[in-house]
Amino acid sequence: MSKYVYTFGGGKADADASQKNLLGGKGANLAEMNKIGLPVPAGFTLSTEVCIHYNDNDGGYPEGLEEQVLAGLKNTEEVMGAKFGDKENPLLLSCRSGARESMPGMMDTVLNIGLNDDTVAALIKQSGNEHFAWDSYRRFIQMYGDVVLGLKPESKNDPDHFEDILDKARESTGVEHEKDLTVDQLKQIVAEFKAVIKKHAGVEFPTDPMQQLWGCIGAVFGSWMNDRAIVYRRQYGIPHTWGTATNVQAMVFGNLGNDCATGVGLTRNCSDGTPGFCGDYLINAQGEDVVAGTRTPKRVEETFEQDDPAAYAELVEIGKKLENHYKDVQDIEFTVQKGKVWMLQTRNAKRTGFAAVRIAVDLVNEGLIDPKTALQKRRIPADDLNQLLQPIFDPAAKEAAQKDNRLLAKGINAGPGAASGQIVFHASDAEAQWNEDNDKQLILVRRETSPEDLRGMKVAKGILTAFGGASSHAALVSRQMGKTCVCGCDQLNINYEAGTVTVGDTVLKEGDWISVDGFTGEVFNGQIDTSASEVMEVLLGNLNAEDAPTYARYEQLMKWADEYRTLNVRANAEADDAEAAVALGAEGVGLCRTEHMFFDHLDEIREMIFSTKPEDRAKALAKLLPFQREDFTHLFKTLGDRPVTIRLLDPPLHEFLSKHHMHDDPTLGPKLAKEFGVSEEAVLRRVEELEETNPMLGHRGCRLGIVFPEITAMQSRAIFEAACGLKKEGINCYPEVMVPLAGFKTEFENQAKVIRETAAKVFEEQGVEVEYMVGTMIEIPRAALTADEIAEDAEFFSFGTNDLTQTALGMSRDDYKGFIGYYQENDIVPADPFQTVDQTGVGKLMKIGVEGGRSTRKDLKIGICGEHGGDPKSVFFCHEIGLNYVSCSPRRIPIARLAAAQAALDS
Ligand code: PEP
Ligand code: MG
Repeated sequence: MSKYVYTFGGGKADADASQKNLLGGKGANLAEMNKIGLPVPAGFTLSTEVCIHYNDNDGGYPEGLEEQVLAGLKNTEEVMGAKFGDKENPLLLSCRSGARESMPGMMDTVLNIGLNDDTVAALIKQSGNEHFAWDSYRRFIQMYGDVVLGLKPESKNDPDHFEDILDKARESTGVEHEKDLTVDQLKQIVAEFKAVIKKHAGVEFPTDPMQQLWGCIGAVFGSWMNDRAIVYRRQYGIPHTWGTATNVQAMVFGNLGNDCATGVGLTRNCSDGTPGFCGDYLINAQGEDVVAGTRTPKRVEETFEQDDPAAYAELVEIGKKLENHYKDVQDIEFTVQKGKVWMLQTRNAKRTGFAAVRIAVDLVNEGLIDPKTALQKRRIPADDLNQLLQPIFDPAAKEAAQKDNRLLAKGINAGPGAASGQIVFHASDAEAQWNEDNDKQLILVRRETSPEDLRGMKVAKGILTAFGGASSHAALVSRQMGKTCVCGCDQLNINYEAGTVTVGDTVLKEGDWISVDGFTGEVFNGQIDTSASEVMEVLLGNLNAEDAPTYARYEQLMKWADEYRTLNVRANAEADDAEAAVALGAEGVGLCRTEHMFFDHLDEIREMIFSTKPEDRAKALAKLLPFQREDFTHLFKTLGDRPVTIRLLDPPLHEFLSKHHMHDDPTLGPKLAKEFGVSEEAVLRRVEELEETNPMLGHRGCRLGIVFPEITAMQSRAIFEAACGLKKEGINCYPEVMVPLAGFKTEFENQAKVIRETAAKVFEEQGVEVEYMVGTMIEIPRAALTADEIAEDAEFFSFGTNDLTQTALGMSRDDYKGFIGYYQENDIVPADPFQTVDQTGVGKLMKIGVEGGRSTRKDLKIGICGEHGGDPKSVFFCHEIGLNYVSCSPRRIPIARLAAAQAALDS
C-alpha cells in the first residue's frame, strides 16, 4: 500500500526537509525540526498526493488512508500523553495546509479540533481556566462553520453571522475584544454559533471528533482549488498539479494565561536584511490573533525580552540553530505555553530585493554559505535586483495612498521604478515645461507613444499609456531609458482636446499629480514620495561608494555573478544611454537601433522621404551622414574596446511621417509643402502612399535598404568613417553591422554587399582599416529555418525575439494587449510571450537557428536582442541553447548578469 501519512513528534519523524514535494514546505520542515531536536508538538502530514487524488476524485480519498490517519493519530496521542475525544484528558488538534511553495494565507486552517460539550468540560478541569476553554470552543465552531461548512463571507457585502454575534456581545458589555467577554457570554455565543450553523449550513454542528477531523482535512485539501489560491498560483507560476499537504498537529496554547504567548518571527529583518531576531507577538493569545489584525501585536525585538526573558533567550537560540541548519534566514511561528516554547513552523523567509542581497552577502561573510550558494535564484530572484536600481515609492506613503483609495487603475508593469509627477499629455509640452524648470516632475500620459514623443519621454519621470503591450514603443523605449513606465492601462480615457484623463468617476487635468508604479503596474491619484536608488547614484558618480553600504553589497554580489556566468551581457543602447549601460556592466552593445538617432533629425529624414529620385535621396541622406557619424563616434568612444552592434534602419518610413503626425501638428502639412516646393495635396498623397494596413509586415527592415540602397550606404559610411576616425586617434572599436528582418539569404547578401563595398571605399579614402563584421537579426521564422544558408554569408546572428514572437505566433506586439490578460488568467498561455520566450514555439525556432547557423559556421557568434534578453527565465533558456550573449536595456544588465550566473550554476 502506498504511504500517504508521515508522522512526527518526540524527536522522531519519518520524513525530512528534502521531501517538500510530497509533504509541502510546512510538513517537511516540521519533520526536520523534530530531527534536529527542536520542540515541536507531535502530529502527522497527509501528503500532496492525497490532495491530487481528492481534487481529481470529487473529494474521494485513496485506499488505505483512513488506517494511516488512525495510526498517525495514535502516535500523536502517545507522544503528547492525551487522547483525541477523551472526556478526561482530551487531545486537541490543528489542521493546516502546506504546499511545496508557501502560499501565505491562501488556503485554510482549523484550530482546536476535538472540542465538544464533553471535551470542553474536560479542558476546563485540565486547564483550570474556564474562559480559555469556552473561548477555544467558540473559535473552533466559528472556524469549522467558516472553513468546513462554507459560511465564510466571500465579499464585503456577504453577512458574517459569527462576527455579527461577537460584535453584539462586545457592544452589550462595552468591551473592545472578545478576550474581555465574560464566561457566560462565551457560553451564550457557543450556543448561538451552533444555531447559526444549523440555520445557515443546514446541519448540526458535529460533536464526533473524528467526523470533525475528516471535515477539516477535506476542507484543507479542497482549499487548494479556491479562487484565491488559483489566482495566487497563476501570479507566481506555481502549477495547479502540485497540490497541498495537510498537517494535523497537537494543539499547544498561547492563550492559557499571562505566562503564555504566541508569535511569528524572522531570524533577520526581511525588509532591509539587518541581522537580529525580530517579529510580532501577543501575550495570552492564539496564533490567529497575531495575524488577524484584531489586536495590535508587540514587537519581539522591543519588548519580548522583558515580558519573558527565558522564552526570548530560547527563541534567539532556536533562531540561530535554524539559520545554521538551513543556511538561510527563517520565518517561524512559535507558541509559549506556560513558559515552554513550541515551534509550529519554519521556512525560508520571503524577502525584498534589498534584504535578499544583504542577507546573501552577509551569510557568506559569516561563513554560513559560499558565494555559489549566495547566488541561488531562490535566494535572489534576478528580477528583484530591480529594487536596488530604480527609484522606489516610500513604502509608508504608498500604503497611505492605498488606504485612501487613491489607486486609480492597473496596467502592464513595463518599466520598473516609481514615479510621481504632474500630468502632461504632449511630448512637446513636456519638453517646454522641463526647459523652463529642470526640476519639474512630469508624467507623460498618452494613448500610446510614437518616435515623435522621444524628447518628451526623456524629460518625464514616468510614462503612462492606455494602449500597447510589453514590447510596445512606450515599453521598450522606457526600459532602454531606464524610465518608469506603465502601459496598456485600458481603464484610462484620454481626451487630448479637453486635456483630461478620466478613470471611472475621477477626472484629472493636465498639471494634476499622478503616481505610477512600474513594478506593479499600479496608477495612483496624487503624489507619492519616492527615493532614488543608492546603487544607481554611485554608478552614475553622484555618490561616494564609501557612503553606500547597499552599493558595496551589490558590487560584491555582481563580482561573484561575473565569476560564474558564461553568457556575455550587452546593452540595447544608443548614444545617450550607453554610459549608463557601461556603468551597469555592459560588455558591448548588442543592439543600437539607428532609427532612434534619426528622431532628432526629422526634417532631413522627411526630405529623404519626399525625394523621388535616387540622387535627391542621396542629397538628403548626405545631410544626415554627419549626424550619424557623430553619434557613432560618441557610441564607439563610450564603449571603448567592447563590440558595438549597429542595426541598419528598421521601421517603415511612415513612422517618420504619417497622418498621426499631421493630425497632431496641423502646421506640418503647409510647412512640408513649402519646404519641398510641392502642393499640400502632394504632401498628403505621399503620406497616404506610405500608409500600410499591416505595418509590421510591410516595407521595413532590410526591405527598405534593398529598395533604397542609398540608405544602407549612408549608414555604413557613417559607421566606418567614425571607426576610421577613431582609429587614427589611436582608439580601437569593433563595429558589427547588422541587417534587420532578413528572411532570404539573398536579402542578406544584397545588403552585406553594400556594407562591405562601402567599408572598402571608406578604408581606401581614409587610409586605415578597422576590423568589423556583418551579420543579421534572426527575427522572422524563415530566417531561423534557413539559418544554415544565411550563415554562409552572415558572420553573426542576433535573435530579434520581439519580431520573431510576433511573426511565429502571428500575434501583433502592438495589439495583443486586448486578450493576453484573459489568456494568462485562463491558462491558455503560461506567460506573456513578449516578456518571456515561448520556449516550445519561438524557442524551437531559436534552437533550429542556432543549430543551422553553427552547422555552417562552427563558431558563429549568436546573441539575442529582443526584450526577452533581460528576462531571467529567457536568459536561462539562452544559456541552455548555447548563445554567446544576451542584450537588454541598460537597467536590466545587472539582472541579466545575475540570471546568467544562476543559469550557469544550475546547469
Ligand atoms: C526584435 O524584433 O526583437 C528587435 C530587437 O527589434 P525591434 O524591437 O526594434 O523590432
Ligand atoms: Mg525587430
